[in-house]
Amino acid sequence: MTDCLFCNIAAGEIPSGKVYEDDDVFAFRDIHPKAPTHVLVIPKTHVATLSDVKDPALLGMLMSRVQHIADDVLGLEKGYRVITNVRAGGGQEVFHLHVHILGGKTLPF
Ligand code: AMP
Ligand code: ZN
Repeated sequence: MTDCLFCNIAAGEIPSGKVYEDDDVFAFRDIHPKAPTHVLVIPKTHVATLSDVKDPALLGMLMSRVQHIADDVLGLEKGYRVITNVRAGGGQEVFHLHVHILGGKTLPF
């Protein structure tokens, strides 16, 4: 989608702090980090929000990549938090499905 910020980031048309990319996902640093490490993982396919996902395999793929990026790419061996905000009431501001990975410090509740 050409008018989607995260589609444009995944396509390399908007600069980002890329940490990982493969055929299915793109991961980059959040522009307003809420922890020492704050990375967003997005599927390259445009889906607006978690509730819109039709294919459960997409969710399996996405969480598998989140695991790989957090454990192997970012090296968050002490632990991390994974968050997906769903629609405006859940705090979602960018309507392209994304998973936040937060780590690098002991996170408060
Ligand atoms: P959410 O509130 O779950 O939709 O999260 C959207 C996140 O995208 C926020 O944490 C923003 O700081 C982040 N964000 C917005 N624009 C950019 C950008 N151009 N590059 C990196 N992160 C961004
Ligand atoms: Zn998009």
